[in-house]
Amino acid sequence: MDCVICTRELKGYQKKFCSNTCEVFNKTELAKKRKLKNKIPILPRNCIVCNISFAPIRAGHFCCSLKCRKTFNIERERGVRHARAPRRIIKPMDCFRSEIPENLETHKSPVFNSSCSENKNQILEFIKNGGEITKFPSAPAGKTPEVNSAYGWIPDELFGSALMYEMGDEE
Ligand SMILES: [Zn+2]
Ligand SMILES: [Zn+2]
Repeated sequence: MDCVICTRELKGYQKKFCSNTCEVFNKTELAKKRKLKNKIPILPRNCIVCNISFAPIRAGHFCCSLKCRKTFNIERERGVRHARAPRRIIKPMDCFRSEIPENLETHKSPVFNSSCSENKNQILEFIKNGGEITKFPSAPAGKTPEVNSAYGWIPDELFGSALMYEMGDEE
């Protein structure tokens, strides 16, 4: 009688296997066969991202490729994040737009300052071509400081620390 695995001659009380190695090998092979037999075949399914049919390897296999898997993960993470802390989606320039009143007036008679009118010609051309200048609402009144006035309200102190308006001569 020979070993059922390696067909080597059996010795003494050996009945099936010549050695421990052959017995273990047989055991693992049988286990593999049993596993294959009990395996439930997984039918092809559609990818949850790109909706293309594919053959899944495992039961919990829902994406056809690594690319789709990454897309799915990103989308899922985004969903979790939004569910955790819903927040306003800020579009570019939104923060500035909110500060500008909607009912702005326009005019066509620009006033030029003699010291800073480098773009005078361009502005006049813009008006000539039908352009209109947006009139911003009048600026808030200048504030005078309420603290750190060493000598009280003397003019030098106020001009030094408070808002000053440029008194340019107009043409
Ligand atoms: Zn053997
Ligand atoms: Zn896919």
